[in-house]
Amino acid sequence: MISVRDGQNQILAQFTQPTPPELLAVTRARERVLAEDLRAPFDVPPTDNSAVDGYAVASGDVPATGTRELDVVAELHAGALFDGALNPGQAVRIMTGASMPQGADTVYPQEIVERRGGRVSVGPIKKGVNVRMRGEDIQAGTIVVERGTVLRPQELGLTASLGRWQVLVHRRPRVALLSTGDEVVEPGTPRKPGQIYDANRFTLRGAIEQYGGDVVDLGIVPDVREELRARLLEAAEVGDIVVTSGGVSVGVLDLVKDVLAEIGAIDFWQVAMQPGRPLAFGRIKSAHFFGLPGNPVASMLASMLFLRPAIFKLAGRRRLFPEMYQATALEPMSKRAGRREFKRGIVQWRDGRWEARITGPQGSGILSSMTAGNCLIVLEEERGDVAAGDTVLVEPF
Ligand code: AMP
Ligand code: MG
Repeated sequence: MISVRDGQNQILAQFTQPTPPELLAVTRARERVLAEDLRAPFDVPPTDNSAVDGYAVASGDVPATGTRELDVVAELHAGALFDGALNPGQAVRIMTGASMPQGADTVYPQEIVERRGGRVSVGPIKKGVNVRMRGEDIQAGTIVVERGTVLRPQELGLTASLGRWQVLVHRRPRVALLSTGDEVVEPGTPRKPGQIYDANRFTLRGAIEQYGGDVVDLGIVPDVREELRARLLEAAEVGDIVVTSGGVSVGVLDLVKDVLAEIGAIDFWQVAMQPGRPLAFGRIKSAHFFGLPGNPVASMLASMLFLRPAIFKLAGRRRLFPEMYQATALEPMSKRAGRREFKRGIVQWRDGRWEARITGPQGSGILSSMTAGNCLIVLEEERGDVAAGDTVLVEPF
């Protein structure tokens, strides 16, 4: 038996190089992983500019008490520049975002002044207000988005604001995906007695896409040595990673083991976890191989624990593991010490705290326990049974 953490570490140690960078339009880069440090080529904002619609003045013209009349000598729209400099006794009508005229350092909002013809009457105001300073957002030369960052809408906007319309991102890891099993048939085709429809390839496809991988779907392989051999070799040609489900529990284990021994290298692990003990990890030619368990909950869980950090690392991400949060258990939960258990749970905010309960039957074949839930309740190795009111860790999904 190995621990979840040891399994993860052994797997991650095999992923030494991220996928190569590719140039992508910013419009297509959402959710991709930045492969360069993005530096600001100039200050943002590039000039001091007005934060309001109003009148720009030199602070020397701001009266300490009473009011003062200033000549309005120009009208500046956003994007326009004032050539020349402001003289004492002058004001410039200025719109939000317009560059400050030379000599001006304070802006009166239009609501607090009195305009009469070509003159404006102004009162006391704090000197320097309503001006956005050059470089107050970003200074030229600083790194604004770090390599390894997953690009969210705000990073895309920031990138564009620096004048870039393309960015270097890591190529999406390619994952070749197969289901195994004589009993597994394709949805949409007739099902004979004793057969089941493939669930795993669809769960795993969705999961891999969520993790940022590109799925190459290679269908279902029967438990036939030659077929398995041919399909795994084909998979290794197209994928950075090959993922199968099923065929790693005792019974068919020898089939996968024999084939992998022939065409690659493989380790079979018993991971101290529940659900989903068996896991195979190895290599076929230049591809990494993950043999996930066949039970639908176990295969999805194994993908979250072992495949996700591997895809993340291959994709160049900095953070490999999700955040966990603390919640109060609403009910007792059985737990065997010595292994890490993952209950499917429902977590919700109530009465000022996060509360977690279990979705119902927790068998590793009960996929509806996943659809009914919104989190994993993660019970650590050393822990025994959980009592109602105990604190537990949850990982939202
Ligand atoms: P195995 O490890 O191949 O013995 O599979 C364990 C259990 O998972 C068996 O009940 C299989 O029928 C089931 N199973 C295997 N592959 C799939 C799949 N792709 N979709 C749904 N259930 C599966
Ligand atoms: Mg099977």
